[in-house]
Amino acid sequence: MPLETMEGLVVRVSDWSETSRIVTLFTREHGKLRALAKGGRRLRSPFESSLDLLNHDRMVLIRKTSGGLHLLTESSQITRFSGLAKDYQALSGAYLVAELLGDWVEENDPHPGLFDAAIGCLKDLEQAACADGETEKGVPKWNPRDRLVVLELALLIDLGYRPEFVGCVGCAKKAEKGSAAFAFGSGGLVCRGCRLDQRGWRELPERCWKLARNLVAAIELGGNGWAELSVSEESARREVRRWLGEYLSWIRGRRPRLMGWQEE
Ligand SMILES: [Zn+2]
Repeated sequence: MPLETMEGLVVRVSDWSETSRIVTLFTREHGKLRALAKGGRRLRSPFESSLDLLNHDRMVLIRKTSGGLHLLTESSQITRFSGLAKDYQALSGAYLVAELLGDWVEENDPHPGLFDAAIGCLKDLEQAACADGETEKGVPKWNPRDRLVVLELALLIDLGYRPEFVGCVGCAKKAEKGSAAFAFGSGGLVCRGCRLDQRGWRELPERCWKLARNLVAAIELGGNGWAELSVSEESARREVRRWLGEYLSWIRGRRPRLMGWQEE
C-alpha cells in the first residue's frame, strides 16, 4: 500500500498497548482518521512528542482502504501551541476545539476550510494566553470563549448546519425588531405563527440574534468576527454562547463535555 503525506491536528490520543498509541487526527486532506502509532509510547519514540494532543503535524501514513486503523509511519511537528499552557481559559478553549473536531468531523470527509479555521483559532488562543495586557499592534487579544463561538459557527456553516437569521424558516417573513424564536430542528428563526409547528425552540433577544446573524455574515465573507464581537456587550456575547451551546447539543444529541466552560 502506498505511503501518503498529509497535514493533521491531533484531536484525541489513547493508549493501545504498552508501547503503541492510537491517535485520532483531523487531517486537511482526508478529514478525520484514526491511526495506530507503533512505538508511540516508547521513551525514544520515532514520533518524539509530535503525537501530543493538539499538535499540528506533517504525517506519513499507510492508509487502509478496507476500514480499520491506518498505520502512522512518520510524524513531524509543524506547530505545538505550547503557549496555551500558560492560561487556563485558552487551554480550555483549545480542548473544546479538539473535542468538537473529534466528534463532528467524519472519516474520509475532508473540510480544508474548517481545518484552516481550527488552526487559526488555536493560534489566536495561544496569542491570548501569551499576551500580557496589550498585544502587538493590530493583533486582537481574544476572549477564548468568544473565539470558540467563531470557530463553532464556521464548523456549522462548513458541515451544512448554517443557522438562518434573515427571515422565518417557515414562511420567509423577514425578521426585524424585538426578540425572536430560534427553532433548533429547522436551524433558523421562526415567527410567532410558525413556531407552533416546531419541536424545539429558544427565544433570543434582538441583540443576540442580530449579533449571531452578523457573525455568520462576517465568517462567510472570510472574516474572523472580531469587528462584530469587539463592539458587542458581554451580555449579548454570553447569550450567543449559550444559544450556540444549545444548538450544537441539539444537533448531536449530546452536550459537548466542555460546553459548561463556554457558557459561563
Ligand atoms: Zn413564519
